[in-house]
Amino acid sequence: MSFRAPELSRRAVLLGLAAATASGLAQPALAIGPMANVQVPAAYRFKLGGFECTVVSDGPLKLGTFSAEMFKGISQERIDQILAANFLDKTNFTVDQNALVVNTGGKLVLVDTGMGFRKVYGPRTGHLLSNLRAAGIDPAAIDVVALSHGHPDHVWGLVGEDGKPNFPNAQIYITQADLEYWTDEAKLSDPALGHYIGPIRDTLLPLRDRMVFLRDGQDVVPGVQALSTPGHTVGHTSFVINSQGSSLVNIADLGHQPMLQMENPRAEFARDTDPTQGVTTRLRVFDMVANQKIPILAYHFPWPGIGHVAKRGDRYRYVAVEMQTVL
Ligand SMILES: [Zn+2]
Repeated sequence: MSFRAPELSRRAVLLGLAAATASGLAQPALAIGPMANVQVPAAYRFKLGGFECTVVSDGPLKLGTFSAEMFKGISQERIDQILAANFLDKTNFTVDQNALVVNTGGKLVLVDTGMGFRKVYGPRTGHLLSNLRAAGIDPAAIDVVALSHGHPDHVWGLVGEDGKPNFPNAQIYITQADLEYWTDEAKLSDPALGHYIGPIRDTLLPLRDRMVFLRDGQDVVPGVQALSTPGHTVGHTSFVINSQGSSLVNIADLGHQPMLQMENPRAEFARDTDPTQGVTTRLRVFDMVANQKIPILAYHFPWPGIGHVAKRGDRYRYVAVEMQTVL
């Protein structure tokens, strides 16, 4: 026996909405408090083999407008088509910030730290610490902070406005290449990068004695392995997480907008330090995860940033995973 859903016309839906609105107006609202006007805590927890993982948001980051200058190799006309087909606003290129906590049972690892207290990319960033606490994770309990790269939205959250480390007991893993590049005094006068370099130096250099340099293939802790994925920055690193036969690749910033970049993986992203190398690396990692059917976590993809990459000819398709409401 099959159940047949009643057919709904757009007109019927609109009439229904109108009726609901009219009755809502006719009757006083029932026992409702004031609107909160703030977002509820954003954390999403899931199991990966024997590990417990929690994605924790630092809040949305405004990058500007979608343009052919940002995604070189896609025409503005095609960008506009893709945006329209995906209900995206051309004037509002905003990305999520999905930091990942991995509890291996022995160690607590945080991958990337958000913007911290600085509001360079809009007012809604800087929520990592409050969201960690809301998820029951004490920042002082973090053993390892693994940094995918040296950009502000990944490292500035290491330190509070008072100059004190937000993760006081953590060892910090970053590549030597990224540390040197993004704290380079000579770049302070660089017209494009200069205004980032000072605060990055202020953040990273005082923590130097707690840093360990990441190497390709190295286990940050057992089950969390560094994978060198340069291009977005000189030392950009992904993390392969493995437990009891289950895997996830945290691709960090190999992509920023799944609808545009999965369909156009050869488009060069203007914010990559080496856009050509960025394309080569993106294709290598997308091929790997597509062929092996390993889910990814992308720092900037729509919350919580976990999905599969499917190969379609010489392009890809991003399929967000279904989220479980109960662990
Ligand atoms: Zn980023």
